[in-house]
Amino acid sequence: MVKKINKDLTAEQKLILFDDGTESPGTSELNNEKREGSYHCANCDQKLFDSKTKYESGSGWPSFYDALPDAFETSTDFLIGYARTEYHCKNCGGHHGHIFEDGPKPTGKRYCNNGVCLVFKKK
Ligand SMILES: [Zn+2]
Repeated sequence: MVKKINKDLTAEQKLILFDDGTESPGTSELNNEKREGSYHCANCDQKLFDSKTKYESGSGWPSFYDALPDAFETSTDFLIGYARTEYHCKNCGGHHGHIFEDGPKPTGKRYCNNGVCLVFKKK
């Protein structure tokens, strides 16, 4: 996939989106974002999550139990020694986070997303 990198991204955003970095837990102001709206890719503006699926996981990263259809593609990485499901923006290829199987109903999934990769747009 061709990655289109927005030149206005910060160094941290570039590191996470295109070099598989991770932000420090508890640092994203989106952790406390509870308003109605949508979450978009910081690189390409693709709409990724609806605020209805956001929940407080206690992990320190913005967490969602589901993503919008066609938002992401997934792959498996072994960066920390065991297999994890990594997901990236279907439009630009930017890495956003990992999917875990300890989320709430109805999906049981937890999309653990780096906050700096997201832009919140209030409804
Ligand atoms: Zn994107």
